[in-house]
Amino acid sequence: MSSSVAQPTIFSRIIAREIPATIVAETERIIAFLDIAPKAPVHVVVTTKDPQYQNVVELAAGNPTLLAELVAVAEQIAAERTNGQFRLVFNTGAAAGQTVFHVHAHVLGSPEASDQLG
Ligand code: 5GP
Repeated sequence: MSSSVAQPTIFSRIIAREIPATIVAETERIIAFLDIAPKAPVHVVVTTKDPQYQNVVELAAGNPTLLAELVAVAEQIAAERTNGQFRLVFNTGAAAGQTVFHVHAHVLGSPEASDQLG
C-alpha cells in the first residue's frame, strides 16, 4: 500500500496549476477542489500540498497535525456547502477504491437536507 518514495500524482499537477481544477479552499498546507467525477451533489477533494503521504494511515502516523488541518478544512467546506452534515471518506489502498496515491479526503454531501446521507 505504501512505498518509501511517493511519486507525483495528478493532484500535484493541480496544486502546481499545471492542469485546471475548481479550487474551493486553500491554506498554506491544504488545498480543496471539486471532484471531476462527483459521486454526490457536493463532492470536494481535500488534499495536502505535500505529496509525501500516500494515504491517511501514513499521514496520521507521520504528521497528525497536518491531518487535523485537512479535517478542519473539510469541516469548513461542509459548513459552507452541506449544512455541516457530510461524509468524510479516505479510500485507502487500490482494492478499496483508491486511485490517486496522494493522501486526500472526499467530502460528500448534499446542500439541501441534512438527513439524506443515511
Ligand atoms: P480516490 O479514488 O483515489 O479515492 O479518489 C481520487 C478522486 O480524484 C476521484 O474521485 C477522481 O474523480 C478525482 N480525480 C481524478 N483526476 C482528477 C482531476 O484531474 N481533476 C479533479 N478535479 N479530480 C480528479
